[in-house]
Amino acid sequence: MHPKFLTKLQQHLSKEFVLTDPQKCWPYGTDGTQCFFMPETVVLPKTHDDVVFITRLCNEYEIPLVPRGAGSGAVGGAVPIHGGIVMSMMRMHNIVSIDHENRVMIAEPGITNLAIQIAAKKHNLFWAPDPGSREYCSLGGNLAHNSSGPRAIKYGTVRENVLALKAVTGNGDTIHTGAYTTKNVVGYDLTRLLIGSEGTLATITEATLKLLPLPKKQMTLRALYRSIEGATTAVTQIMGQAELPSALEFMDKTTVDLVRQYGGVDLPQGVEALLLIGIDGNDHSINDVVSIIQEASKTSDLMTIDIAKDEQESQKLWQARRRISPSLRHVAPKKINEDIVVPVSKIPALLKALEKLSKQYGITIVSFGHAGNGNIHVNLMYDPDNKLQAAHVDECLQKVFTIVLNLNGSLSGEHGIGLSKQAFITQEVDEHSLNLMRQIKQVFDPKGILNPGKIFPANSPPL
Ligand SMILES: Cc1cc2nc3c(=O)[nH]c(=O)nc-3n(C[C@H](O)[C@H](O)[C@H](O)COP(=O)(O)OP(=O)(O)OC[C@H]3O[C@@H](n4cnc5c(N)ncnc54)[C@H](O)[C@@H]3O)c2cc1C
Repeated sequence: MHPKFLTKLQQHLSKEFVLTDPQKCWPYGTDGTQCFFMPETVVLPKTHDDVVFITRLCNEYEIPLVPRGAGSGAVGGAVPIHGGIVMSMMRMHNIVSIDHENRVMIAEPGITNLAIQIAAKKHNLFWAPDPGSREYCSLGGNLAHNSSGPRAIKYGTVRENVLALKAVTGNGDTIHTGAYTTKNVVGYDLTRLLIGSEGTLATITEATLKLLPLPKKQMTLRALYRSIEGATTAVTQIMGQAELPSALEFMDKTTVDLVRQYGGVDLPQGVEALLLIGIDGNDHSINDVVSIIQEASKTSDLMTIDIAKDEQESQKLWQARRRISPSLRHVAPKKINEDIVVPVSKIPALLKALEKLSKQYGITIVSFGHAGNGNIHVNLMYDPDNKLQAAHVDECLQKVFTIVLNLNGSLSGEHGIGLSKQAFITQEVDEHSLNLMRQIKQVFDPKGILNPGKIFPANSPPL
């Protein structure tokens, strides 16, 4: 790295926020995937102007610049595969304003999702996106990956819940997208373009979030089924109602067995599939919605439906979902965790095909997730020391993606492409569309310094 470049950085930011010691840089070289690439330098800006300065300098010296939030991403998005600078946004964690009359919050990208929810709750409001990592993941990461959770079924993903953005493009220009209002048709929708762009087009320095009124009451239902078809038919029936649940989570038999055996969750034998259903609303309306959804959950293979009467009982029912991740560790030393999506009516076909694949390759496949969106977390569990499994796991994964695309689905519902899935993107996105995306990248980031080597296949022409 050019010595003048480093001196200029240190003059602007102060040495404390320009890390060059490998020991201090090391934690910024990985993310939720645990792949590792060492950053040459880590910078910690505090203001929008700092981000402009850093970006212009990287642009001048043509040094890779990787924006980073909390590093919990599931696709290697925040790792510096070409070295250069990692720019941690976590010091920019202020709430700029909360306007409860118009239900709008303006916040900086380093704030955690949970801190947004806590601040909004004081005004009886909430922000819809609710990833499982909410306690530590950053708003910037949520925006960059269009991250969501169970509530997306009723309230949408990040794209439906952001009004405007302030960002810095690859050549250091400041842009403002969208508007403060909930309706806006002035030019192209750059807000929705930047959301999900994985730090490759611009660094987001401020977001205007659409908040929603906090429901007064929440209830949880747990339905157990004797067959997968029983549960998936119920999902289609529930999604056909005018009153949507606020969560509709699915667990297959392998997942149910796992949380029973290793998670200590009390579940009867014979359960082939489980649905966890969240319902929210007002005091006067919620019981009606519960009845409607309870009715829609009924299929010939329904075993029982439990309804939590209070918060404590509700937490107990949700335990089954929360115990999945720790229980997975008992299945095999390694997992490939995908977050594919299919149309809701295709979930049964997907699960049947996965069962076949699991038998064919001798690889345990654990499937669970946000059934209401058809967004299923498919986990291929394998032992790298098992020669047969290790030799077949990539082929098995390829088959998973082929099945999903044949069912009119998509490779990723919420994790993004990053590094992990770039080899597969051409199977979903046609050549012309991918070329258009490359050209868009070029316009936002002419020298290709922003998070290089992500999204586009590794053998793409250089950007
Ligand atoms: C236990 C666990 C549970 C999870 N559950 C969910 C879930 O339910 N739903 C879900 O969707 N995801 C989930 N995730 C994945 C992950 O938490 C999300 O993708 C999250 O939004 C990433 O946020 P982060 O701050 O950690 O981002 P990072 O991992 O730091 O970065 C992710 C991407 O965002 C870019 N980026 C970060 N900040 C900015 C910025 N200011 N401007 C531009 N680009 C930026 C980075 O370059 C990178 O490409 C989970 C992860 C874990 C470990």
